[in-house]
Amino acid sequence: MERILVSACLMGRKVRYDGGAKTSADAHLAAWREEDRLVVFCPEVEGGLPTPRPAAEIEGGAGGDAVLSGAARVLTTEGGDVTAEFLSGAQAALAVAQSFGVRLAVLKEGSPSCGPLSVYDGTFRGRRTPGHGVTAALLELHGIRVFSEEHIPEAAAYLRSLEA
Ligand code: SF4
Repeated sequence: MERILVSACLMGRKVRYDGGAKTSADAHLAAWREEDRLVVFCPEVEGGLPTPRPAAEIEGGAGGDAVLSGAARVLTTEGGDVTAEFLSGAQAALAVAQSFGVRLAVLKEGSPSCGPLSVYDGTFRGRRTPGHGVTAALLELHGIRVFSEEHIPEAAAYLRSLEA
């Protein structure tokens, strides 16, 4: 059975920077949970950051690929550099995904860690820009397809293709 890595906040865990969750009511996620397919993970918590914590964005809105290559940092609203924690969380996510043979993930859009298609632009003004979060970028680099919670039907179709 294919396992699916999923952002912990989508599954109701209160791990977001503000101490809350972003619980998804999606029926696919509920079914996959019933089937025991889900590997529930929060890269920022596993990378050693507390909850709650200051909001963080990738400087310049550069995206996770730039963080992985050392070309950009992840900074908090208070100016703290949390790049090392984000990189550690991404590596931990990859390790747990690989330990379960994960080939697809459903991650929270817009997050500097999890964002599959977009991240905030580094200005803390609530503006998104195209790009991966750090964890999403690392998973994609290792062949794991990453879908946002806004595209779960596409994730379900990909799952069906893997199990066909
Ligand atoms: S790092 Fe990912 S799983 Fe953790 S709170 Fe942010 S979006 Fe959710």
